[in-house]
Amino acid sequence: MAALDGLPPLRDVIQRHGLDAKKALGQNFLLDLNLTQKVARTAGSLEGVTVFEVGPGPGGLTRAILALGAKKVIAVERDSRCLPALSEIAEHYPERLEVLEGDALKTDFEALATEGPVKIIANLPYNVGTQLLVNWILPKQWPPFWESLTLMFQKEVGERVVATEDGDHYGRLGVLCGWRTNARMAFDIPPQAFTPPPKVTSTVVHLTPNENPIPCSVANLEKVTQAAFGQRRKMLRQSLKALGGEALLNKADIDPQRRAETLSVAEFVRLANCL
Ligand code: SAM
Repeated sequence: MAALDGLPPLRDVIQRHGLDAKKALGQNFLLDLNLTQKVARTAGSLEGVTVFEVGPGPGGLTRAILALGAKKVIAVERDSRCLPALSEIAEHYPERLEVLEGDALKTDFEALATEGPVKIIANLPYNVGTQLLVNWILPKQWPPFWESLTLMFQKEVGERVVATEDGDHYGRLGVLCGWRTNARMAFDIPPQAFTPPPKVTSTVVHLTPNENPIPCSVANLEKVTQAAFGQRRKMLRQSLKALGGEALLNKADIDPQRRAETLSVAEFVRLANCL
């Protein structure tokens, strides 16, 4: 049975193009087009929007994004085996899908953002997902080139993205995301929804930029969060010793006996600004 967009079912596409999933490339494909539409809809209206997608694979999410009216999709895929399947989608949606073969970690997304507004939507390969998110949170310019990020991660990573102080998952990622974005978990996707099923549950996270984050040097914020969470069970006067220890904490008006996971994002920013 053909799918609603008139293109063949994804299972057929995968079979015809011999796209057996490769573990090293984090390939867990979503074949249920209702589910890919649910992910794409989490990004809000796509009318007139340029969408950047990482790892389109056989194109299930790409098809949903195009069917929901995105003006254009620019998709970066590392696996050249997927390119013929993606060409069929590009032919079905003339001028609306551009596929770049390459490594998303080496792609300058900021330079590609010539036609706004831009939204990023991706079912991320698990091995590079966190690094890509950090790159998008720390671009050269702020506010950033993107209007929103709608990203699928392993649930454990999603929990770290939205974590706040005193939560089990709070760490460097939660501080960075809490400083520069408003992040929320949208919904979970069980392993059985993917081909092949991964070992863990996935989750979709939606992030929008905080227009006015408290000004702070990224390098200093990275230094304090790395030192503090590197020894998260120790008191801050100990874990931050190399950065000034008690003197630094006193200057920032933070009790030196506290531990990293109790500090709010605003307190981390204050520490970074006292360095
Ligand atoms: N979007 C498809 C879906 O939802 O079914 C596939 C998602 S699969 C989890 C991750 C995709 O990212 C794969 O197609 C894989 O080949 C691709 N990929 C892995 N590493 C990549 C990288 N560094 N840059 C670009 N694409 C990558």
